[in-house]
Amino acid sequence: MPNLLYDTLFGRHTNSDAPFLFRPGTQELTYRRFLAQSAQFAHALEEVGVQKGDRVAVQIPKSAEALALYAACAAKGAIFLPLNTAYTTSEVTYFVEDSGATLLVVDPERAEALQPLARSSGAQLLTLGASGEGSLPARAADKPEQYQPVDRSADDLAAFLYTSGTTGRSKGAMLTQGNLLSNAQTLVDLWRFSRDDVLLHALPIFHTHGLFVATNVMLLAGGAMILLPGFDSDAMIRNLPNATAMMGVPTFYTRLLDDPRFDRDLVAGMRLFVSGSAPLLSATHETFEARTGHRILERYGMTETNMNTSNPYDGDRRAGTVGLPLPEVELQICDPDTGAVLPSGAVGVIEVRGPNVFKGYWNMPEKTAEELRDTGFFITGDLGQLSDDGYLTIVGRSKDLIISGGYNIYPKEVEQVLDRLPGVLESAVIGAPHPDFGEGVVAVLVPKPGVEIDLDAIWAGLRDALAKYKQPKVIEVTSALPRNTMGKVQKNLLRARFDGAFT
Ligand code: ATP
Ligand code: MG
Repeated sequence: MPNLLYDTLFGRHTNSDAPFLFRPGTQELTYRRFLAQSAQFAHALEEVGVQKGDRVAVQIPKSAEALALYAACAAKGAIFLPLNTAYTTSEVTYFVEDSGATLLVVDPERAEALQPLARSSGAQLLTLGASGEGSLPARAADKPEQYQPVDRSADDLAAFLYTSGTTGRSKGAMLTQGNLLSNAQTLVDLWRFSRDDVLLHALPIFHTHGLFVATNVMLLAGGAMILLPGFDSDAMIRNLPNATAMMGVPTFYTRLLDDPRFDRDLVAGMRLFVSGSAPLLSATHETFEARTGHRILERYGMTETNMNTSNPYDGDRRAGTVGLPLPEVELQICDPDTGAVLPSGAVGVIEVRGPNVFKGYWNMPEKTAEELRDTGFFITGDLGQLSDDGYLTIVGRSKDLIISGGYNIYPKEVEQVLDRLPGVLESAVIGAPHPDFGEGVVAVLVPKPGVEIDLDAIWAGLRDALAKYKQPKVIEVTSALPRNTMGKVQKNLLRARFDGAFT
């Protein structure tokens, strides 16, 4: 029976002896072996009663077997629901209960802690560890290495992916087979992936970047991945010479640049570096080019939509922008209050429409109605600006917009000024409640290594560069900004910290 996602990403490699995964310290894994394992997993899912449309929640370490479980869910027509490995028991409880998962697969080390949740929610519990051990592989071991996938088509749900929770409670984005495949196909074409590519993969696989952008693209292209458990400079330096492409969050790039071994010779065999999930500083883009001769290709996406825009493969990769809308993705900049479409150059909320846009938030009809227009446009909550030739610049998130004395202040504008001042490595600007102005601007600065920031010079620099109402009223120097695993600055934590700054 046809199963669009399974057949297109996985099934057609069933008899291929080409390498799919390289894991340092272990033998290479061919597509054939990988798919034999996923077939066994699919039989095991069947044995424990997983049905079409059931949610399979997984909180497991990154491994080949974890990807085989993703393939098995696709074959079974079950909805794959990966969870951040850092989530605590109470967080996992929320996601399992919210999603109504019927099966929970966890790291053997977490089994005891999560057993009560499985019991109370009625979900079955299986384990899968970092080395491919656990009760799922044990149950699968004697199963046939072929599985007949169940019937599924473009409109059927393939995954629930919870958003990162940067601006509030994580929401479960319902993604269809068609959402995932259309985006993967677009990216393979646009970024020229082929079976000759070897992607250096150090991202987590519970997030859209490492799971759908990286893995689906490589599966569709038939290439291979060097699967690292996470980012580690030594491991990256060791493996870069064997790769042709890498996808990373901005912190990967800044950390690589901090390492003197990272140079032009090391990346002589690379053809593409992609960055996303958080803003890449123009300065990083420029330093990277000076060091390696490569221009990082920055793109913009989110859990609900996969990728929306990308800088071009050929042509101008413009630092500080996230490039042009992908083919088939329509993008408009709208007035946040009226929803009216704004002309190019104006700052407004970014809205997108296309085959990549999700079905809605699971269990949150009001939230879905608020963010998905009847016209099919999704209101991203990001603020941006289009240039006359169609390049998108992200200015920040609408929830981070500061309104002080009735004036709109875009944190990014203030951050860009601060980042250029002497001794500043990076900065974050937030609004804190202010009795007179509604909100007052607060800036947090991180100094360059070994440098002491001269605050008088910073105040003077601000006076020259920004209108009075945009200038921070409080500046604090700190050793690092709070970031989550995807390198996103957690402004909610900063807002909580400075909540009483003016009151
Ligand atoms: P939540 O929606 O729960 O608050 P989140 O939006 O951080 O969390 P994700 O879906 O992981 O969850 O992240 C998508 C967001 O990441 C985008 O809306 C955008 O703000 C940001 N982002 C992604 N790529 C880029 C980029 N290249 N430059 C700037 N921001 C980016
Ligand atoms: Mg979001």
